[in-house]
Amino acid sequence: MEYYSSHINKLIEQLAHLPGIGAKSAQRLAFHLLNMPKDQVEQLTGAIIGARENVRYCKNCFTLTDQELCPICSNEKRDHQTIMVVENTRDLAAYEKTGKYEGVYHVLHGAISPMLGIGPDDIRLKELMMRLQTQDIKEVIIATNSSLEGETTAMYISRLVKPSGIKVSRIASGVPVGGDLEYIDEVTLLRALEGRVTL
Ligand code: ZN
Repeated sequence: MEYYSSHINKLIEQLAHLPGIGAKSAQRLAFHLLNMPKDQVEQLTGAIIGARENVRYCKNCFTLTDQELCPICSNEKRDHQTIMVVENTRDLAAYEKTGKYEGVYHVLHGAISPMLGIGPDDIRLKELMMRLQTQDIKEVIIATNSSLEGETTAMYISRLVKPSGIKVSRIASGVPVGGDLEYIDEVTLLRALEGRVTL
């Protein structure tokens, strides 16, 4: 039996697709949206569409940006010979917040996970290897999470990069196991970066 109009049901269904939103939260959000002033709803939908249409991947490091080259890749003051490999743009933001890292990044958009069927080809790994072949790189700092997937990815990358003679390092294990980088405070992040070990 349908309790709500089909429009409400459709809204609830769409909201329930969002990560972390269960059926109950989706209902709560749907009714909240319905009670919002119309212009506020338009602002919200406008922001969603605007972000979706204008945000793209940086053609060098693959972070999310609204330019062809992100502000970090186009900044000449950054050390373009040092690449920090992170799983996602949120992790990049966490390191940027410390204000202490001078190098550039490479965003994988995921990690290798045999359990979830995510292989090396499903993340931006080929693009990283291409950068190492075509750019003058001195060090690759692997800053994937310390989860099983993050460690698997780190090991895989180090095996790929090592034969090229480029220095490969891994951030120190001061980062709690399974901890998402974005939730770790800046001091811990800096300590992990400074204490990185060569693989
Ligand atoms: Zn970039």
